[in-house]
Amino acid sequence: MFQTSTFHKVSKEAIMSEQLEPLKKSEISVNDIAYSKMETGESVGLLGHLKGFLVPFSKIFKKTLTVEYPEVKAPTAERFHGRHQLNRHPDGLEKCIGCELCAWACPADAIYVEGETNTEENRMSPGERYGKVYQINYLRCVFCGLCIEACPTRALTMTNEYELADDTRAKLIFEKQDLLAPLRQGMLMPPHPMYPNTTDTNYYKNEIKSSHPSQEVNN
Ligand code: SF4
Ligand code: SF4
Repeated sequence: MFQTSTFHKVSKEAIMSEQLEPLKKSEISVNDIAYSKMETGESVGLLGHLKGFLVPFSKIFKKTLTVEYPEVKAPTAERFHGRHQLNRHPDGLEKCIGCELCAWACPADAIYVEGETNTEENRMSPGERYGKVYQINYLRCVFCGLCIEACPTRALTMTNEYELADDTRAKLIFEKQDLLAPLRQGMLMPPHPMYPNTTDTNYYKNEIKSSHPSQEVNN
């Protein structure tokens, strides 16, 4: 009943492709087009069409998933890949050591890092080096998460924040200050010395739980 067929167009140009001088466009009229009949398969029948209609019909009685965004924001999945964050140790020192592994792992070349050596007067992280310049270009980032897998100190993680639209391209290149985690209870703003009588190993073993009063001297 619903048998259908179509016609496949074969141009005279194609048929005469072996000619050295193909016809010009202006020389081809509609009558020059040759047609070959092509079968498109069996009809699904009335029952098949009814089965198809059942799909949207069954959805009519389901609860709507529409959310009145931006007034209402549906929570993301727990492991949603959103904006990045540069984390701190519990005393406030930065976890980033400026190793650039995240930048090398990035398939979109979205990360730019410049490392710098820590000194006793200007200590930003435990150990030898810290990330002096840290940029993520969100015009390039595809939120794949390879950078956070590459980070050896868990300095770089991803948050659930997804509202990253802006009105200029420049605003979508996030600098270090845009990405750094805020200071939480017990943290001090670097630069400041490491926790007394510790090495960077104590930090990486997660043995530092808060700042010590002696670390406030440089603030
Ligand atoms: S999430 Fe992927 S694309 Fe984005 S900065 Fe990290 S590695 Fe690059
Ligand atoms: S975020 Fe991690 S991988 Fe990237 S430079 Fe800092 S320590 Fe290295």
